[in-house]
Amino acid sequence: MTTLHVGGPARYFVDAQTETEVRDALDYAAQRRLPLFVLGGGSNLLVADEGWPGLVLKISLLGVEFEFEKDNTLFYAGAGEGWDDLVAMTVSKNCGGIECMSGIPGTVGGTPVQNVGAVRKSRKPSQKSGRWIL
Ligand SMILES: Cc1cc2nc3c(=O)[nH]c(=O)nc-3n(C[C@H](O)[C@H](O)[C@H](O)COP(=O)(O)OP(=O)(O)OC[C@H]3O[C@@H](n4cnc5c(N)ncnc54)[C@H](O)[C@@H]3O)c2cc1C
Repeated sequence: MTTLHVGGPARYFVDAQTETEVRDALDYAAQRRLPLFVLGGGSNLLVADEGWPGLVLKISLLGVEFEFEKDNTLFYAGAGEGWDDLVAMTVSKNCGGIECMSGIPGTVGGTPVQNVGAVRKSRKPSQKSGRWIL
């Protein structure tokens, strides 16, 4: 589940592919008072040998849409999309802004949480909004 491939198991694991599955998993954990861990691509995680005593919720929400707005193009990407895939798509649409963050592993959802940046540039100026479930 992580790119380092080390660490112990999760007591419960959900691979959520819809928002409903995300909400159901959150309710499940809340009702049982389980410690929750939200997992993206696992590229910035080191899991202990003891594993995780509660629920690991992997976010696999997919889908990218874009729309044109005056001089800009807006991209709406699911949190489970690969960040580098999104960067490649913006470049293929001839859009500038996040191209210097090409090659960074992880998911779209992990990017704002991790405040990803590269070459002294952050994704922040290019992000207009985000929809948070958690
Ligand atoms: C080879 C390599 C190169 C890298 N280069 C860079 C770099 O140049 N710049 C840079 O900034 N980082 C870099 N990183 C770090 C890594 O790419 C980022 O931290 C990335 O954002 C991690 O995303 P992830 O989806 O894999 O998150 P994970 O590793 O799965 O999770 C990391 C944290 O984010 C949280 N999280 C993940 N997804 C979500 C979500 N959908 N909702 C809520 N919380 C979430 C997790 O709970 C956890 O706390 C690099 C990592 C590697 C291995």
